[in-house]
Amino acid sequence: VVCTGNPQYDEAQRFKGFIGACVDTTEQKQLQQQKDNFLGIASHELKTPVTSIKAYAQVLEMMFRRDGDTKKADMLGKLDKQVNRLNNLIADLLDVTKIHTGKMQFNVTGFDFNQLVEEVIEDVQRTSFRHKIKKQLYFQGMVFGDTDRISQVITNLLTNAIKYSPDANEVIVCTEQKGAFVELCVQDFGIGISQDKKDKVFEQFYRVSGAKEHTFPGLGLGLYISCEIVKRLNGKIWVNSIEGKGSTFCFSLPLPR
Ligand code: ADP
Repeated sequence: VVCTGNPQYDEAQRFKGFIGACVDTTEQKQLQQQKDNFLGIASHELKTPVTSIKAYAQVLEMMFRRDGDTKKADMLGKLDKQVNRLNNLIADLLDVTKIHTGKMQFNVTGFDFNQLVEEVIEDVQRTSFRHKIKKQLYFQGMVFGDTDRISQVITNLLTNAIKYSPDANEVIVCTEQKGAFVELCVQDFGIGISQDKKDKVFEQFYRVSGAKEHTFPGLGLGLYISCEIVKRLNGKIWVNSIEGKGSTFCFSLPLPR
């Protein structure tokens, strides 16, 4: 049972009583649990057929390429790309269920931060043709954390920067040490976010509404998952933005002492 309310006072500021309401949240909690169960089972069940579609598409593409049938091979290449997108959506849904049920696991090791950043940039650059990702990597050293999860956060910030700046042609990644933390920022010159929506973008399923919502594909989960990952690693994530000019998304992680 959850209660909210306000104390009441008379003219002489003497306490008169309490006015409020109490709500039994058992049913709400059960419903939330049912939704989480459904999300978990659905995304898990979607994974298997999608993995096998991907495998067949790749084999067929290879066969057509070998036979010199470029047209068919290219079509299968496109199919493979769309399957990758589907795979990423499913992975995000799975991550959300893991967060809700407290089952997101972290495999923490010490690693070379700069090397990881370079690898992720190379990966994202490979699939983005319009934008050049510029590097200003001033931090050198070891960081402790889950490399897959940290890569996921950097990838998310980079792909968002590219997605939400369709008219720009560069994105800047900057790393530096700030006191006991390492900080990574991704700056773009895109559509930006208004002040009142800035903090909401880290909430699950939140997408800045308006015409833009339909222009850019997405579920509104990437930043929510990134925020959870960074928080679990004792770091912080935030954004500075000017609507119409661009955004800078940053996160920090504690350095080993
Ligand atoms: P998605 O991109 O799938 O919608 P995210 O959780 O990654 O989900 O982002 C949530 C929302 O925050 C986006 O829908 C978009 O409105 C806004 N957003 C995220 N990154 C940027 C950016 N670099 N520039 C402008 N808006 C952004």
